[in-house]
Amino acid sequence: KVRTRFAPSPTGYLHVGGARTALYSWLYAKHNQGEFVLRIEDTDLERSTPEATQAILEGMEWLNLAWEHGPYYQTKRFDRYNQVIDQMLEQGLAYRCYCSKERLEELRHHQEQNKEKPRYDRHCLGDHSHSENEPHVVRFKNPTEGSVVFEDAVRGRIEISNGELDDLIIRRTDGSPTYNFCVVVDDWDMGITHVVRGEDHINNTPRQINILQALGAPIPTYAHVSMILGDDGQKLSKRHGAVSVMQYRDDGYLPEALVNYLVRLGWGHGDQEIFSREEMIELFDLHSVSKSASAFNTEKLLWLNHHYIRELPADYVAKHLQWHYQNQGIDISQGPSLSEIVTMLAERCKTLKEMASASRYFFEEFDAYDESAVKKHFKSAAVEPLQKVKEKLTALSVWDLHGTHEAIEQTAAELEIGMGKVGMPLRVAVTGAGQSPSMDVTLVGIGRERTLARIQKAIE
Ligand code: GLU
Repeated sequence: KVRTRFAPSPTGYLHVGGARTALYSWLYAKHNQGEFVLRIEDTDLERSTPEATQAILEGMEWLNLAWEHGPYYQTKRFDRYNQVIDQMLEQGLAYRCYCSKERLEELRHHQEQNKEKPRYDRHCLGDHSHSENEPHVVRFKNPTEGSVVFEDAVRGRIEISNGELDDLIIRRTDGSPTYNFCVVVDDWDMGITHVVRGEDHINNTPRQINILQALGAPIPTYAHVSMILGDDGQKLSKRHGAVSVMQYRDDGYLPEALVNYLVRLGWGHGDQEIFSREEMIELFDLHSVSKSASAFNTEKLLWLNHHYIRELPADYVAKHLQWHYQNQGIDISQGPSLSEIVTMLAERCKTLKEMASASRYFFEEFDAYDESAVKKHFKSAAVEPLQKVKEKLTALSVWDLHGTHEAIEQTAAELEIGMGKVGMPLRVAVTGAGQSPSMDVTLVGIGRERTLARIQKAIE
């Protein structure tokens, strides 16, 4: 049974590169009716924080990437790592190394001068002159002959000669196991069949395979996913804009849009752009993941976001929209329902952040009018139409689309002016701005009481 994992180091927020790796890993598991493991690689005590762990979990939940197992924490598994190291020492798969810093430095210096690859010379292998109580590290006895070959599911066959690999330190002087070793034990214990991770880990893979092999553990399939670049061809980073998943939530994106964007960034199925979650699961395959780096394109993400704002059920979009009112301090207790807002504004707003701020006037009074809208539509000639339309609106027995529309139309007819000469000043009066959904829709959304009060305020 397929089992994949996502193994972030909690040193910061969940960034889009990590999210894409997690997504691919998750999709591969789901595609194969397998399971997905979340593992927090928090052994770097100086750089790992509980806040970062929380941020990663929050990001995974927001993206709706659920895990069947975990979250496991490496810091809670030190006993297990040490148990395996002790066993390896006993079996001669690893050895204690007592070399001083000075000796290692000298060795390195010497090798550099001879233009050799710096590597440990196995000085301590088979040396029994030391006591275990003396400070030491534990090194893995890497094979010296032959090479490590693996078939990367994305990049194809990769071969590294063992001559290139050092006797890796697996336990430090302070007794803590090292990163590569923890990963190996975890992947083994957690039954990982497919390791999907960033290409920055490709150099670790042959070392990990050698340790797994020594332990008699099954070797998972590896898939190294390429980097994400900014629009200038450099590795994607903060200076290109948002890189944290939760920043995209804050900026008004739907998780569906970001997930759809990320799945296409480095994977494809013909030229299809829109994928439902079910389609992704059905079609995703590691072999069609691109080997080359992909450039992040915010325009395309925005396009997808607009697509999902329009296409997903309004009450679903409304659930995500709600957060933005809170975030912007807009009190939505009085006003239309949020799914009505979505229906009204989906065409005009490409992000939920924009939608929340563009719909403020449905919920709250405003103090200032948009200046250019005032200049354009609010001259003295606007007073009479406003007065008249107010009378007609006041007289309406039912406040609905038909009634409000008629009121505007009749006002224009009686004053012998165009509909716009009534509608535009009215729009500025009740929304404060020159843009909104059609006037009847807007007025029904705002409601009778607020509409009439705002017209009155504008006339005065
Ligand atoms: N913890 C590593 C990272 O965040 C991932 C290691 C792995 O996937 O094997 O880059």
